[in-house]
Amino acid sequence: MVNFLIFGPPGSGKGTQSVKLAEKFNLVHLSTGDMLRAEIATGTDLGKRMSSIMSKGELVPDEVVIEMIACKIDHSKGSAGFLFDGFPRTVAQTIALEKMLNDRKMKIDSVLVLEVEHDELVKRLVARAELSGRPDDKDPAVIENRIDVYKSKTEPIINYCRERGIYQPVNGMGSIEDVFRRLSKYMKKYL
Ligand code: ADP
Repeated sequence: MVNFLIFGPPGSGKGTQSVKLAEKFNLVHLSTGDMLRAEIATGTDLGKRMSSIMSKGELVPDEVVIEMIACKIDHSKGSAGFLFDGFPRTVAQTIALEKMLNDRKMKIDSVLVLEVEHDELVKRLVARAELSGRPDDKDPAVIENRIDVYKSKTEPIINYCRERGIYQPVNGMGSIEDVFRRLSKYMKKYL
């Protein structure tokens, strides 16, 4: 099994690229954002509790997403590996994921980090709000908060990965196909 993390600020294209990459390389795509939105859409208790946190652009508690991912890892067999999208988002989540993988004789093989300029992120999220109807894309103050949360809580993971030699920055500017080609090139080295 080969396991990838895809990182990047909100609007960097992680979700879009993950769907395409998972299909191309037969990976299981695990997106905590999608899982949380599914909880909200089906009206579960968990979804109800998490929706106000998400609409402010804050992170939900580590235990919630760690539990979701642990469940999925044991129910996904027969693929080339996992592509984690939007998880981990804190150092605590990273340590929990490493332990989960270690216990199952797996590891994080590569961390692909999409780099996109700030103004482009805001432009993409505002455009997405029209189509997605996501409340966290509609409000410019929430968008800025999500970018700040990424910088303060998620970027520290990048240093952690850099020290382990699994960090791979990728230019996330340009068309969806351009970025897809760049990401595919790096992933091919492992598959
Ligand atoms: P984006 O990267 O576009 O902001 P996601 O779909 O990955 O969006 O996540 C949407 C929201 O879901 C986040 O702003 C956060 O509130 C919550 N969320 C998703 N994944 C996590 C996680 N791993 N830890 C904490 N909160 C999360």
